[in-house]
Amino acid sequence: MSAEILSGTETAGALRKELAARVEAIRSSQGWVPGLATVLVGDDPASRAYVGMKNRAAGEVGIHSRQIDLPADVPEAELLGLVEGLNADPEIHGILVQLPLPGHIRESRILEAIRPEKDVDGFHPVNVGRLSSGDRDVLAPCTPAGIVELLLRNGHDPSGRHVVVVGRSNIVGKPMASLLLRKGRGGDATVTVAHSRTPDLGAVTRLADILIVAVGWPGTVTGEMVRPGAVVVDVGVNRVDDASTEKGYRLVGDVDFEGVRAVAGAITPVPGGVGPMTIATLLSNTLQAAMALRAMDEGMQG
Ligand code: NAP
Repeated sequence: MSAEILSGTETAGALRKELAARVEAIRSSQGWVPGLATVLVGDDPASRAYVGMKNRAAGEVGIHSRQIDLPADVPEAELLGLVEGLNADPEIHGILVQLPLPGHIRESRILEAIRPEKDVDGFHPVNVGRLSSGDRDVLAPCTPAGIVELLLRNGHDPSGRHVVVVGRSNIVGKPMASLLLRKGRGGDATVTVAHSRTPDLGAVTRLADILIVAVGWPGTVTGEMVRPGAVVVDVGVNRVDDASTEKGYRLVGDVDFEGVRAVAGAITPVPGGVGPMTIATLLSNTLQAAMALRAMDEGMQG
């Protein structure tokens, strides 16, 4: 058996088309567009590439995007002041501060300063709490929310299935579990979360109808750890040396793709799987935030 390839590139393309049509409808009928501000501190090449991709993707669907670049030694107070300004800016509906931040800046202070209604990354404690309480209108973290959309749009509804999530980070694993446990669309799964202290990982992963792996180590999940026919979502992005490529490396996930592909019913590739869905979900969150903020403003005026 060779698994169905779950293409995030294709699914994200369809989602972005829908978003572009919705943004255009707002622009032509109401005369405004959603706005996204991205903040990049320092000059880490990977962070710069991610922020660039996010801004380009925003522009392509008609979202107004503003990138703010700050030097690596920017004082924490200055960054907080910038966030305050963006919180009050009526043209900006979504604020994304690219992580990680330099060591002298407390990430938690910055994330907590972002107005929860503009927190399109879904990392503010208020949004984290709302998500784990089962709120269906909350801005949810882009990677796990994108995975849910990828599953649903490809006929793999998690409802009633046993989903095993490997990894318990605040960015992927934990919000993934919260989303899958929510009642209603995209939720209603039976969820198990595994991590580095889980003994006999394979015994746990073999129970999964849907297996989601977010670990950060290539080859963590091999073919014999997967139940035949399971759906496997590989979140990992890892660089491995490859002298045959121009850059000297290539990107691989956390899953042994070829070994697992032979056993699974469906599998996401790396690249071209979860990554494009993460970016499309950021755009979708920005539109959602903009609609909610506009409705709130109109409510206050009326
Ligand atoms: P993270 O914060 O480092 O968390 C990794 C998790 O994996 C931890 O919970 C850790 O357990 C667990 N773990 C590590 N080794 C393990 C093992 N051998 N067996 C079982 N569990 C193990 O990483 P993250 O931010 O969640 O990211 C995970 C991966 O996803 C990375 O490759 C990252 O680049 C990628 N990623 C991709 C996207 C995308 O859009 N494509 C977005 C975000 C992240 P402990 O908690 O016990 O340490």
